[in-house]
Amino acid sequence: MFDKILIANRGEIALRVIRACREMGIQSVAVHSTADSDAMHVRMADEAVCIGPPSSTDSYLNIPAIIAACEITGAQAIHPGYGFLSENAAFVQALEDHDITFIGPTAEHIRVMGDKITAKDTMKKLGVPCVPGSEGGVPDYETAKKVAEDMGFPVIIKATAGGGGKGMKLAKSADDLETAFRTARSEGKANFGNDEVYIEKYLGKPRHIEVQVFGDGKGTAVHLGERDCSLQRRHQKVFEEAPGPCITPEMRAAIGKTCADAVADINYIGAGTIEFLYEDGEFFFIEMNTRLQVEHPVTEAIFGVDLVREQIRVAAGMPMSFGQDDLTINGHAIEVRINAEKLPNFSPCPGKISAYHSPGGLGVRMDSALYNGYSIPPYYDSLIGKLIVHGRDRPEALSRLGRALGELIIDGIDTTTPLFHALLAEDAVQTGDYDIHWLEKWLESNLG
Ligand code: ADP
Repeated sequence: MFDKILIANRGEIALRVIRACREMGIQSVAVHSTADSDAMHVRMADEAVCIGPPSSTDSYLNIPAIIAACEITGAQAIHPGYGFLSENAAFVQALEDHDITFIGPTAEHIRVMGDKITAKDTMKKLGVPCVPGSEGGVPDYETAKKVAEDMGFPVIIKATAGGGGKGMKLAKSADDLETAFRTARSEGKANFGNDEVYIEKYLGKPRHIEVQVFGDGKGTAVHLGERDCSLQRRHQKVFEEAPGPCITPEMRAAIGKTCADAVADINYIGAGTIEFLYEDGEFFFIEMNTRLQVEHPVTEAIFGVDLVREQIRVAAGMPMSFGQDDLTINGHAIEVRINAEKLPNFSPCPGKISAYHSPGGLGVRMDSALYNGYSIPPYYDSLIGKLIVHGRDRPEALSRLGRALGELIIDGIDTTTPLFHALLAEDAVQTGDYDIHWLEKWLESNLG
């Protein structure tokens, strides 16, 4: 096992990894930008190294500075968290060259799954059902027109390198196609340095269902059920739960096995998420994330496992501490993302926290790096906390969520907390009866 791990991240996820390290008796090293000198992850880690100025390009994405921090502190492994360098194959390759272990999959798996066209092609070959669409990339508008007409509108044009909802454009009819095609291409180029795009059938009322998988890198893999992340704004998740309200045990076992077999087949190592759109009883693969997800705590809650501990174990060459038969679901869990944003426009709202109180009690987990007097810097993602509740069933989890939200105090800035109070009053949320478009429509008529 490692003696010391460096965490190449910040905020709540850096704390999350530090916690796992401490429980495992492993020393932790925080890295931080000059804007984060007072951040909680810096205070909580055993050691901390400043790696650059505020801009993430010069700090949290600065590969030479991060490798130097490892060498100075003697850290043997790096946990990347999510975002930043977590899905950067060149980073993983650079670590390999420096004999530093990356706590995550191989550079090759990151490369294959990071390109959505290759990912889809690979999954199709592994027997995973995919959204109908173009065979690979679509080189020009003429081809796009032909593919879309053959398939029928509406269609969605996606940048193969896209992520975070960027590089994705809907064409409702032939009239929108040219603009959608060109915009998706230019967004792909501008944000990810790659203008290759592909086309998919646009699904009208799907749910977002994702399967958590975990592999040992030696041909064994398990699934840890699904999460339903259908409540989204601008293709970004805001409310996630496990298990999915519309997934039966039989469906879970079947899609879970398909996913576990697929990743076992490629000797996948560590945590991964296979994302699907789910409509009319059918699953359609959209992408795989080769890292820990923001919403992993809901899975941890219902299975009673520590996914970060497990990631560290397999990265150190140890076996997984559970097999498929050990994994049984206990109750229901929900996570809401608390962002430093001002409603109704969700405009970023960094600033000084004048009072902070975290909710507690049975079945409540608050993953956050906030503290009284902390100043949220303006340079990074607006996620400042994740409130996770666990109950015996969905109704209990929902009422616990309402209770916990009521206890949460974050003064000094605006947050998305009022959104969740309002959502809990909605019948659709109480019954779990919504698709991925529901929240956008709700926001338009309630906050618009
Ligand atoms: P990203 O990598 O940017 O997150 P994804 O491919 O994972 O992009 O898609 C993000 C979200 O966009 C999905 O959860 C869903 O809400 C929507 N979406 C993606 N593909 C389709 C599709 N074919 N039809 C309808 N909605 C889609």
